[in-house]
Amino acid sequence: MLRHELLVSREWRAIGMAALVVIGLWVWAFLPRQPILRVTVLDVGQGDAIVVRAPGGETALVDSGPGGSGFNAGEKTVLPYLRKTGVRSLDAVVLTHPHEDHVAGMASVLRALPAKMLVDCGAPHASPGYAAVLKLVEEKDIPYHVARRGDEIRLGEITLKVLNPPEYRSGAGLNDRSVVLKVEYGETSILLAADAEREAEMDMLANCKNLQSTVLKVGHHGAEKATSEAFLDAVRPEVAIVSVGRNAFGHPSRETLDRFKRHGVRVYRTDRNGGVTIESDGKRVGISVCKETPAI
Ligand SMILES: [Zn+2]
Ligand SMILES: [Zn+2]
Repeated sequence: MLRHELLVSREWRAIGMAALVVIGLWVWAFLPRQPILRVTVLDVGQGDAIVVRAPGGETALVDSGPGGSGFNAGEKTVLPYLRKTGVRSLDAVVLTHPHEDHVAGMASVLRALPAKMLVDCGAPHASPGYAAVLKLVEEKDIPYHVARRGDEIRLGEITLKVLNPPEYRSGAGLNDRSVVLKVEYGETSILLAADAEREAEMDMLANCKNLQSTVLKVGHHGAEKATSEAFLDAVRPEVAIVSVGRNAFGHPSRETLDRFKRHGVRVYRTDRNGGVTIESDGKRVGISVCKETPAI
């Protein structure tokens, strides 16, 4: 009798546990998920192309990589990535500056997908990739904006703050006139430093209130003249991402990589890790890479 009761109670306990699991799963399925910001630094070889996906799905493309001699990063890498991740239109396209390693892939992206606006640093430059973009802006009637420090690009729940160039920078080199953006989400932030070098860094240090960022997309592919000690001290990133491919300029420089090491910054490089994705829930940041290999 006792034995039988024990068996019954065990059965009931099992049924109770199963019911709890089912209820638990049901509750979990309907719990509001923490929205995620995703920023992907694509592996486009020597150049930059970055996709910013806001928690609500709004999307910005920052640069579109290089092109030339039968290769076009827009067609080969950027468009396939956008299609694979379900992006059918771009809420903002930012051209940080019109050097070919940032602009050459852009015309093919603009031809294939509708864009709600194009944001540019506004510096004149005679490159074929830039001319093709300006032609498309006119043909497709894409709203065109010149970015200046203090401007903000709203992307659903998040804001892309323009830190560079300032209003008065017209004599500086093209790299120092790059559009530098700070993507903020909750307590986390990602600084996209484009090709900014020392001159732009000094200016941002003197005029921007808060440069501190969780992640730094390193300026000018890790060039020696970018990411100065003072800039790194102000940004204090936990993670640095260098967008770089085979090049004759010595990017990234040993000095810059050593600076990261001294500051205890974890470094990822697109030439070694492939595409690098930053995910943020507003509190914490996670990094995923295509290839797990030691970065330095
Ligand atoms: Zn560049
Ligand atoms: Zn450049």
